[in-house]
Amino acid sequence: MEASGNTAAAELNIQNKSTRVLVDGSPNYRCDYCGQVISEQMKFSAVTIRDPDGEITEHFFCEEECMTSQYPDI
Ligand SMILES: [Zn+2]
Repeated sequence: MEASGNTAAAELNIQNKSTRVLVDGSPNYRCDYCGQVISEQMKFSAVTIRDPDGEITEHFFCEEECMTSQYPDI
């Protein structure tokens, strides 16, 4: 197992980005950038990121502006 104490300025590896609509019955998400609740029928942006450990995480944004504010290089 490899442990790295360097978490600052980690290089993010963006795997995928997409626009989705939250369907009925899904749990609500919160915008990763501004914290707004993304509720049913709302269009939102999703970004899939592989972190340096190889772990895949998904991040959700209420609009593209929030996404590009969080990830300017996207
Ligand atoms: Zn937002």
